[in-house]
Amino acid sequence: MSQPPPLRALPPIGDLSEQQVRGAACVHCGICLDNGTAVDLGAQRTHRAGVVVRWYPRACPGCGAP
Ligand SMILES: [Zn+2]
Repeated sequence: MSQPPPLRALPPIGDLSEQQVRGAACVHCGICLDNGTAVDLGAQRTHRAGVVVRWYPRACPGCGAP
């Protein structure tokens, strides 16, 4: 059993602030991110009103670290 731990589940996009959706704030705790330390969580896809929306969540080092 040497699988890496799963990524922390992202909250539903509908629960997030505009800053969190834009990647300006941590998706998990909501603090404003510093471009030097923010952890990119990769492109995500979600359905909103029947349309596929792409968004690029980021996390602070504390939440985004494995
Ligand atoms: Zn955080």
